[in-house]
Amino acid sequence: MTGGLFGLDGRAALITGAAGGIGTAIITAFANAGAHLVITDTGSECVAQAKVLTEWGVPSTGIPADLSKPEDVKWLAARALEAEPKLDVLICNAGIEGPVGSLSDAKRDALDKVFEVNLLSIVALTGAVIPAMAKNGGGSVILMSSIAGLRGNKRIGAYGMTKAALAQLARNLAVEWGPQNVRVNAISPGLIRTPLAKGTFDDKAYLERRLSLTPLRRAGEPEEIASVVQFLASRASAFITGHNLVVDGGTLVSDGN
Ligand code: NAD
Repeated sequence: MTGGLFGLDGRAALITGAAGGIGTAIITAFANAGAHLVITDTGSECVAQAKVLTEWGVPSTGIPADLSKPEDVKWLAARALEAEPKLDVLICNAGIEGPVGSLSDAKRDALDKVFEVNLLSIVALTGAVIPAMAKNGGGSVILMSSIAGLRGNKRIGAYGMTKAALAQLARNLAVEWGPQNVRVNAISPGLIRTPLAKGTFDDKAYLERRLSLTPLRRAGEPEEIASVVQFLASRASAFITGHNLVVDGGTLVSDGN
């Protein structure tokens, strides 16, 4: 659907974490919805990916960047705005799991890295891109949070802290930039079948227990997050900002029965 309320005809979108499970699904959804793409990930595959998309008629630019490096984030923002001076959509989707286990055992460098990739790089990227969006009449920013930021977690606690802060960043930016027609929302997925969640899928006993606590009794698929990203990027969500949209098959509202 390229036109209509949910279409993205001619809109330019910058998408991080393009090579990952959810990122790839977002790219497919946005390409089908008529968007122009600027895609980024750590490796150079995004350049090849953009070339193929462009050949298929979806104008695309690939920009490799490591979000754990502040100088790369600055460079990425400048290059993206050079490629698409009128960026309409920014999707901060890249993320890492960070240290696993008790927070008391977490090493300082592992903590620094998960905060840098999952939070501080996004403060910097939104800070560089949103003013340009505002100057051009507005836009939509989507931050990929997690239900791990909405409840306690003894396995990936640092990850949860970064994701809780990311939902707060969406609220802060929504308040700051709403008057200039920039909407900022977060999405909090539950368990989604991607490489990031491999540890959960590999632990069969835990997976069974985890899914028995989810009303829909299954994990989500990347496409089921991509469609929500498309909704938040499109005119269909024109009056929604500062929201943290939970997409988790009901996990968070369940009493465990
Ligand atoms: P994924 O591991 O498949 O994809 C993450 C992508 O981010 C990868 O392509 C990776 O290369 C990229 N990335 C990691 N570190 C980077 C860095 N330093 N610089 C640039 N790119 C980097 O995982 P996914 O499940 O597709 O995750 C996408 C987002 O969804 C993440 O923010 C994740 O926290 C969030 N999320 C995932 C789940 C889930 O169950 N899969 C649940 C809730 C939230």
